[in-house]
Amino acid sequence: MKRLKNFLEANDYSFQEWASFKTLTTLGVGGKARFLVYVRTIEELESLLDKCEGMSVVFLGSGSNTLARDKLFKGIVIKQVGRLGEIKQINKTSIYAGAGARLADVIKFAFSLNLSGLEELVGIPGTIGGAIYGNAGAFKTSIGDRIVSVDTLKKTFTKEECRFSYRSSVFKTNREIIIGAMLKLETSTAEEIKNKTQEVMSKRKKHTGKTAGSVFKNHITKTGEVISAGKLIDEVGLRGLEFRGFKIKNEHGNIIETVKNNAKSRNMLKLISKCKTKVYNKHNIMLDEEITII
Ligand SMILES: Cc1cc2nc3c(=O)[nH]c(=O)nc-3n(C[C@H](O)[C@H](O)[C@H](O)COP(=O)(O)OP(=O)(O)OC[C@H]3O[C@@H](n4cnc5c(N)ncnc54)[C@H](O)[C@@H]3O)c2cc1C
Repeated sequence: MKRLKNFLEANDYSFQEWASFKTLTTLGVGGKARFLVYVRTIEELESLLDKCEGMSVVFLGSGSNTLARDKLFKGIVIKQVGRLGEIKQINKTSIYAGAGARLADVIKFAFSLNLSGLEELVGIPGTIGGAIYGNAGAFKTSIGDRIVSVDTLKKTFTKEECRFSYRSSVFKTNREIIIGAMLKLETSTAEEIKNKTQEVMSKRKKHTGKTAGSVFKNHITKTGEVISAGKLIDEVGLRGLEFRGFKIKNEHGNIIETVKNNAKSRNMLKLISKCKTKVYNKHNIMLDEEITII
């Protein structure tokens, strides 16, 4: 670790030691990471990965879909910033966004060019990297619908190769590092985009507090029927339950909020486990986590 610190200092990396996941994730819980490193270019990223071969590495965007465990993460958390978070117009209807770009900024950029297609995603926190990893979406539209290709450190993935599906992509299994993506949008007018955005905003349920969005994926049956995870949790009587610093929201069974400052993530894991067991016992359905646990 001393060698890594010397390398980071000598090469002018922006980094922090013992960074707390409480400030790195929207749930505001978890232990510390030995190193948090901000990488600005592909060259910086490649040199860092060379240097930390054999160590545990995790990529984090805005931490809005992540639950960090309580124990010390002995490895390196990497966040992409600078050039790796840039957004550029490529042609009339295409834009390129670095993995570290905030989804909200990409949407704003598209609107400034009168490009439509991302309105349904308004209000989703997080970065392009995090959104692609979990194919984030709302109102029957997902980021994958607008992707042409995704660049990773090793190669460019075509949209088909990304294997986007409901809250999933190939990146959940191949663990490739997403660098950026090309998005294809449609020309529209400022008025139409504004109206659609307002409609989406008015339909979006406003959730306050420290959460990570939906904890579980909705359940899809073999015949393609979508069963709401929130409804299943509600039906087993857990909506509104408070447990050691966490609360299943009264308004939505699929959202867990951190309600105490010193809450321990192990207790959120217990609550997650309770939801899964109760739903399984009653409905014979095994809920699958949407959030990433690190
Ligand atoms: C209030 C609120 C509302 C939300 N609403 C929605 C919603 O409507 N729809 C929805 O889908 N989600 C929603 N979410 C969840 C979350 O915002 C999205 O999943 C978002 O896309 C996660 O992005 P992030 O940058 O925060 O990812 P993080 O939590 O930082 O990371 C998530 C995963 O992606 C991986 N990852 C991140 N960057 C990279 C990279 N460059 N390369 C490889 N892997 C990477 C991480 O390692 C991690 O496994 C909501 C969350 C909150 C708090």
